[in-house]
Amino acid sequence: MLHSSHIQCLQTLLGDGALNVDPDMLTAYSKDWSSVPAQLPLAVVKPHNSAQVAKFMQYCHKHAINIVIQGGRTGLCGGATPQRNEVVLSLERMNHIVSVDEKAMTMTVEAGATLEQVQNKALEFGLDFPLDLSARGNCTIGGNAATNAGGNRVIKFGMMRDLVLGIEAVLPNGNIVGGLNSMMKNNAGFDLKHLFIGSEGSLGIITQLVLKLVPRSDESVVVLCAATCLDNLILLLSKLRRENAQNLSAFEVMWADYFDAVIDIQQLARKPFAANYAIYALVEFQGQDKAALQTMSETLLGEAIEQGLVEDVIIAQSLQDNADIWAIREAIAELLSRVKPFIAFDISMPISDMQDFVNTSKQRVADKYPKARYFAFGHLGDGNLHLTISYPHPEQLHAIEDEVLKIAGKMGASISGEHGIGVVKKDFLKYSRSDSEIALMKAMKNMMDPNNILNVGRVLNT
Ligand SMILES: Cc1cc2nc3c(=O)[nH]c(=O)nc-3n(C[C@H](O)[C@H](O)[C@H](O)COP(=O)(O)OP(=O)(O)OC[C@H]3O[C@@H](n4cnc5c(N)ncnc54)[C@H](O)[C@@H]3O)c2cc1C
Repeated sequence: MLHSSHIQCLQTLLGDGALNVDPDMLTAYSKDWSSVPAQLPLAVVKPHNSAQVAKFMQYCHKHAINIVIQGGRTGLCGGATPQRNEVVLSLERMNHIVSVDEKAMTMTVEAGATLEQVQNKALEFGLDFPLDLSARGNCTIGGNAATNAGGNRVIKFGMMRDLVLGIEAVLPNGNIVGGLNSMMKNNAGFDLKHLFIGSEGSLGIITQLVLKLVPRSDESVVVLCAATCLDNLILLLSKLRRENAQNLSAFEVMWADYFDAVIDIQQLARKPFAANYAIYALVEFQGQDKAALQTMSETLLGEAIEQGLVEDVIIAQSLQDNADIWAIREAIAELLSRVKPFIAFDISMPISDMQDFVNTSKQRVADKYPKARYFAFGHLGDGNLHLTISYPHPEQLHAIEDEVLKIAGKMGASISGEHGIGVVKKDFLKYSRSDSEIALMKAMKNMMDPNNILNVGRVLNT
């Protein structure tokens, strides 16, 4: 219960409209994209600036009010889904681009701006913010930092952690920390931004960020390849890295179960390839010279066919072709919404182990849960395998997840390459982290949030 006296105090503290308890409005804030059941929050608070976030947190710290932070609610681990008796702190009104420094190639932005907003603003200056994922229109830049998001272009530009220069955050007790550092080098003591990047809101609220921008690549060529096995695609990736690393910006792999399902969903008049293959890759090259990119793609992929690495290839000839090929990979959003309930895995491992892992986990799931559907795809370039397993009985999802993540743990893989732990994977953290690592994480949480009010039960059992 949020006592009516708290509601009045918070309304006075934050001003009109910042706190809402209307049940019709609360529904929209009751879940994220995971299969974690929806839960109405006690209230939703939407501050306008960091000072308001700080005042709000001081109050909650003093009165032990539990808070869950929400960005765009596209998270796949239930971290942004309210638990019982939580108030939502939504960053949606803090969505301004504060400034762009064209010469230094940096952008200062409030945490509630969407990734797409950030990307579009950079383009206006002939620059690019290279993080990219298909949830770009809804996910927020603060959520991207909180989850250390990866996405499609990690192979060239790294993860969110590599693209952040500075972070301002509000601690659970309401103190504001972190300057908006925009320097490349700053070894003056601990680099505190890394406490907040990837800790999924359990240590503080990211309110503003300074981002690194890169020169905009005006041209790109996207290629769709069909192959008989993952080993051949690994050889293709290695060839492209050796022979044209500077232009290679994405290497995404899709096993036939994923590829066939999304081709079905898209109801294309004609399938991309006349024959069916075991596995497919989307390869993207970016650069400034369209003709050079086109010639290079044709040469390299022609050689790959001669070397027997790929069976068939479609090289995009236009922007529309580029978009059509990306649409196959990005149909994951559509697939997820059709196969609910599901578990979305994001296991990270050496690429040489990937096929073995796919075979073993698929077989194990099929033996124990014959009604399960299994879709495999991933960012091959950065060793990150996405599996989606859907199953009609939601109460069994946890057990299926345990089966799969246990296999991952035994192989020395990480149970999360990019989505994070949230509430859905916290019981499995032990498969990838030692007892002493988990104990240190808990000690840090306890030190920064002694009253245990912020994103409680996300990442760790606290
Ligand atoms: C279709 C689809 C495709 C996706 N593809 C990818 C992908 O390729 N790569 C990838 O990495 N992820 C992917 N995701 C997952 C998701 O988009 C990312 O995790 C994203 O970074 C979450 O951002 P958000 O603003 O939606 O965060 P939310 O879902 O709102 O929150 C996620 C977590 O971060 C916390 N949080 C949010 N904002 C803040 C803040 N300002 N300060 C502190 N904590 C905060 C929340 O409490 C929660 O624990 C995908 C999701 C979907 C639905």
